[in-house]
Amino acid sequence: MTTADTTTRFTTESLLTAIQPESGGRDILDPATGELVGQVGQPGRPELDAAVATAVSAQRDWADLGDAERRRLLNRAADAVEANAEALAVLLSREQGKPLNGPNARFEVGACASWLRATADFDLEPETVVDDGQTFAQLHYRPLGVVGAIGPWNWPMMISVWQLAPALRMGNAVVMKPSSYTPLSVLALAEVLNTVLPTGVLQVVAGRGGLGEALSTHPDVAKIMFTGSTPTGKSIIRSSADTVKRITMELGGNDAGIVLPDADPKAIAEGLFWGAFINTGQTCAALKRLYVHADIYDAVCEALTEFAASVPMGIGLDETNELGPLQNEAQFDIVDGLVESAKNAGARILLGGDPDRDATGYFYPTTLVADIDPQNPLVVEEQFGPALPLVKYSDVDEAVRMANSLETGLGSSVWGTDRNAAAAVAARLEAGTTWINSHGGVDPRIPFGGAKQSGYGLEFGVHGLKQLAQPHVIVG
Ligand code: NAD
Repeated sequence: MTTADTTTRFTTESLLTAIQPESGGRDILDPATGELVGQVGQPGRPELDAAVATAVSAQRDWADLGDAERRRLLNRAADAVEANAEALAVLLSREQGKPLNGPNARFEVGACASWLRATADFDLEPETVVDDGQTFAQLHYRPLGVVGAIGPWNWPMMISVWQLAPALRMGNAVVMKPSSYTPLSVLALAEVLNTVLPTGVLQVVAGRGGLGEALSTHPDVAKIMFTGSTPTGKSIIRSSADTVKRITMELGGNDAGIVLPDADPKAIAEGLFWGAFINTGQTCAALKRLYVHADIYDAVCEALTEFAASVPMGIGLDETNELGPLQNEAQFDIVDGLVESAKNAGARILLGGDPDRDATGYFYPTTLVADIDPQNPLVVEEQFGPALPLVKYSDVDEAVRMANSLETGLGSSVWGTDRNAAAAVAARLEAGTTWINSHGGVDPRIPFGGAKQSGYGLEFGVHGLKQLAQPHVIVG
């Protein structure tokens, strides 16, 4: 019998049934239709304390299992995700809003499995740092203990795996606190993973407000993996101080892209589009402001508008759609307000900008805004939605200065035909990652993290594993 034959199989309905509270739940509604997806329980501080206590005791056995067995179980966890991929994708689509099709729900579930496997695969041996005949010093990577993982609502399953996979691999137990907008996706993912993981090493506490703060002040939590906005990240930095927790901060971004004068507008239009509009713009490292050289400004506007107009938006379960609604009303209002600020300032709408505010669902149309002042709020604030401003520039130094002018520095990109010229501009950008002729692609082997107020600490690869471990030097 193969591993796949022995894996528990869920349907979306049986997954939902498994994670429903017995009573007193809060309704979670589909952001595209307003229909009920399911209910989430409302645990509070006592339940969080109980989960941390369970994690403390489960972690010891998990650490004692050894690295080889943990690697095997992470691969089994990937098998379980793959065996339940469609059930997970449908639930994710209904709760988060993202379409099944395109780089969306199925893609996200697939990434969960890939990241689990890749994280199981990396080799991390003790490092001999001095061995000169007189001194022998070796650096070991020990488990930290209990890791608290606090996540956002945009890629709730994938980002959970980014946090939990390296934490588990390094012998830690994990307590997750998902966003109150997308708790069911994370609960369902954990339900699937826990069909193969030992009891207590992975728990989710999805409940009332204040749980994130309780986790980040908890004396028995050694590290917080946080992905979310910069203001919340600052709160966590403060609340983690008393217990000197280790923290990885993956925070907000307002990524710049610079299109150089030698770029081919038609050739880059599709890459620009998905760089900005993946997940309907609700992506940390999406292209959020585009600086285009005056020589090709009109051609880029035209090519991008043509491509953008061809990508269908609608209800996620409809296979034809590749863009969905915004996940929640607050985010709809942010995007709407920023586009209005651009319109009021005289910017030119190339596409969209005309939401039906009375329609069902938080659909904001794909929007491109040209001839916009570089200081307009749509440019300098994070829109986190399907509205891209295109700023015209005439001097590359000026474009670099504008790209670097904000406090954020997550990703960035440079677009041009001469790769070396593009790389020279890339080297001048203040960001955790700069892509050339693409934007936002992540890979489990390539370290990812923010510069400036987009955070600190790296995820992915061996660098990412080290962030979930306590370095321990043995000398002698
Ligand atoms: P958010 O900061 O509002 O919420 C993130 C999480 O923090 C949620 O689970 C929330 O309940 C919790 N939280 C809220 N207050 C807290 C507190 N005081 N203490 C502890 N936890 C608390 O972010 P969001 O709106 O869910 O996500 C969107 C933001 O996340 C955007 O700014 C986006 O750029 C950013 N993001 C960054 C990355 C990255 O890798 N850098 C990835 C995805 C999203």
